[in-house]
Amino acid sequence: MRCCASCGREEFVMNQTLYEIYHKLGISEAVCAFGSAVEEELKERFIAIDANAEFNQLKVISAMQKNRVSAECFNISSGYGYNDIGRDTLESVYADCFGGEDALVRPQITCGTHALALALISNLRPGDELLSPVGKPYDTLENVIGIRPSRGSLAEYGITYRQVELLENGDFDYDGIRAALNERTKLVTIQRSKGYATRPTLSVARIGELIAFIKKIKPDVLCMVDNCYGEFVEEREPLEVGADMIVGSLIKNPGGGLAPVGGYIVGKKECVENAAFRLTSPGLGKEVGAGLGVMQSFYQGLFLAPNVVSAALKGAIFAANIYERLGYRVIPDGRESRHDIIQAVEFGDPDAMRAFCEGIQAAAPVDSYVTPEPWAMPGYDSEVIMAAGAFVQGSSIELSADGPMKPPYAVYFQGGLTWYHAKLGILMSLQKLYERKLVNIANIC
Ligand SMILES: *Cc1c(COP(=O)(O)O)cnc(C)c1O
Repeated sequence: MRCCASCGREEFVMNQTLYEIYHKLGISEAVCAFGSAVEEELKERFIAIDANAEFNQLKVISAMQKNRVSAECFNISSGYGYNDIGRDTLESVYADCFGGEDALVRPQITCGTHALALALISNLRPGDELLSPVGKPYDTLENVIGIRPSRGSLAEYGITYRQVELLENGDFDYDGIRAALNERTKLVTIQRSKGYATRPTLSVARIGELIAFIKKIKPDVLCMVDNCYGEFVEEREPLEVGADMIVGSLIKNPGGGLAPVGGYIVGKKECVENAAFRLTSPGLGKEVGAGLGVMQSFYQGLFLAPNVVSAALKGAIFAANIYERLGYRVIPDGRESRHDIIQAVEFGDPDAMRAFCEGIQAAAPVDSYVTPEPWAMPGYDSEVIMAAGAFVQGSSIELSADGPMKPPYAVYFQGGLTWYHAKLGILMSLQKLYERKLVNIANIC
């Protein structure tokens, strides 16, 4: 196969049998050639991603060995779940793996928002103030905090909130943060990933600098990091740079695609216990909560997670480089270092956004025949389009794309349990744009 139909380079960049199966799946020669040319240039970055995955794989295995994970841990508990060794051991594994004193890792935590809400409401009391020094938090947290009036919000319980925007250039507004910290500030929430914003994702090092600054002014303030999408992307996690709590979802990175539900809170013992007493009941805390047969998937998912995250990272970088070359704004850009698995592509056009999502959907192992449509998803203030053909409903460590249907029509693309699937998804998205003449890939390479 030639590099591209028009440039005349006679190099063969993809072998014939591989091309034939891509073709059978609906990818045209021009798209395959373009994709292969981009992939060629990413070899060195992929090697660095593999090295990070190797480090994190060993970190996970080491935590499992230290805590003597055994077949008994996979037994199913029901009812109260007293003395569930599988659940208790898993929590020790999470604590060791992420550098915390204790952990709460439960199927009874229904999603990431629930885990974050739990961490907040259990560690704040009426009269306390919550501060976000990194601008607006993830959409669903607006309801939790009460930025958008909501039943059961922190605001209803007399917990106030302050926010300091990032500076124009993405830096922390240190003066603003100093001014916002006051005697009532009890907890600081720091979102690692960009979420549905186009600000840069924070590296663990930058989170560490921010926490050091805050703790110097107010040493007893609790620093919580919303760690969604950040786990295993770097060698260090936020607890290793001074955070008191990290919080995330098991149907994102640390569940490795196998966990069917769940969330986690890892950190200081007192913070985790507060959350446990709120999740179950005062007096009961971590002692109850049946494993319900999902424990094996939690262990096995965590075991696979570093490798799955590496696949997702490769997909994100591949997508960035493809769409950047086609002239779209991509965040992070094609060369930037990565601190989460999310890739934003600003299409500036609802048709291109739809075409992209249709391509991701068409490449899925599950529900590949359906067409994604925008819908009013609970917790979001505009319609959201989502493409996901996932084994676990809504799992965004599986290849998925979503975004609010409003300017700048940015798609947030993430996941991929294997690099090969992520690659197919991106090629398929490009195919859809190409077929609708929304992009011109002819003379690009
Ligand atoms: C996904 C996400 C959440 C919320 O998680 P859900 O599981 O969707 O409720 C919160 N914060 C960030 C940064 C996220 O990416």
